Amino acid sequence: MTRIIGAHTVDNGGIHMAALRAGRTGLRALQIFTAIPKYYGDKTSIRPERVQRFREALRTAGIEPANVLVHSAYVLNTATADEEKWGRAAAGLRKELERCTALGVGALCFHPGAATDGNREASLGRVGLAITRALEAVLGETKILIENTAGAGMTVGKTPEEVGGMLSHVPAALRRRTGYGLDTCHLYSAGHDITASPAALSRVLDAFESAAGSAPAFFHLNDSEGGLGSNKDRHVLIGDGKIGTEPFRWLLADQRSAGIPLILETPQRHYDIGDDDDSPDPYDTRMLELLRSFEA
Ligand SMILES: [Zn+2]
Ligand SMILES: [Zn+2]
Repeated sequence: MTRIIGAHTVDNGGIHMAALRAGRTGLRALQIFTAIPKYYGDKTSIRPERVQRFREALRTAGIEPANVLVHSAYVLNTATADEEKWGRAAAGLRKELERCTALGVGALCFHPGAATDGNREASLGRVGLAITRALEAVLGETKILIENTAGAGMTVGKTPEEVGGMLSHVPAALRRRTGYGLDTCHLYSAGHDITASPAALSRVLDAFESAAGSAPAFFHLNDSEGGLGSNKDRHVLIGDGKIGTEPFRWLLADQRSAGIPLILETPQRHYDIGDDDDSPDPYDTRMLELLRSFEA
C-alpha cells in the first residue's frame, strides 16, 4: 500500500505553481499557505480566478483536493487570554476556513498558540471555541485540524491530553469536521521519544489516539535539529537531524500513516525558483525517494 506523500512546496508564482511543482516531483499530496503566514489574514478573501487556476493545476498534477492541506498563519493565537487578540485570531481562523472551503481542500491545519496568562487548562477551551466558531460560520467539508507543537514557552498542544482537551470543547455535532495531525519534529522536540524503538513510536501514537478519540488526520514528516525535549521547532532533512531515518520507516509501516496526507516540511534547495519554473525541488525528490525505499 503506497502512502500519500506530499510536501509544502515553494509557491513562487502562485499556489497553482506550488501544485505543479509537487505534481512534477511525483507527490500525491500538497501543503500551501493561502495568505502571507505572518499576518492574520482576517480580511483576505480569495479571488475566483485564483481558485480556478489552483484547481486546474491540481488536476494537471494528479493531486486530489482531499489530499491538500492548508497551513494557517503562525500568528493566530487562539489560546490567548487577551480578548482582543483572541477575537482577531478566531476571525483569522474563520477567514482561513473560508478560503480553504473556496479552494475545496481537504483540511486546514493550525498551531493552537500559547496560554499567555499561564493557565494552560483554560486556554484549551478557548482553542476549542475558536474552532467551533469557524465551523459554525463556514459550512462545507473542509476540516480544521490542530497540529501538535514543539512546546516552546507557553505554547499548548504538546501533549496528548492537551490536544484531546481542545477537541473535547468542540460540540459533538461538529466533531466530524475537526481532528489533529502530528509533526514528527514537534513530537520529538516536545519530549516524546519516537526514536527508541517501533514500540516506543507506537505508544506515542496510541496516547494521542486515545486522548483525542481518533487517529491523526495527517503527519508532517520532518527531522529535528533540536534534541529530545529541546522544545525547538527547527526542521531539517530526514536523516540530517536527531530523529534519523529509522523512525520514519517505522511510521510508514504503521497503519495510521495510510490514507492520509504525509507532508514534508523539510528545507527546499531552491527557495528562489523562478515564478514560471515548475521543476521539482531536488531536496523533495531526494526525500520522496528515501520514503519510497522504506515502503519496498
Ligand atoms: Zn508541521
Ligand atoms: Zn514546525
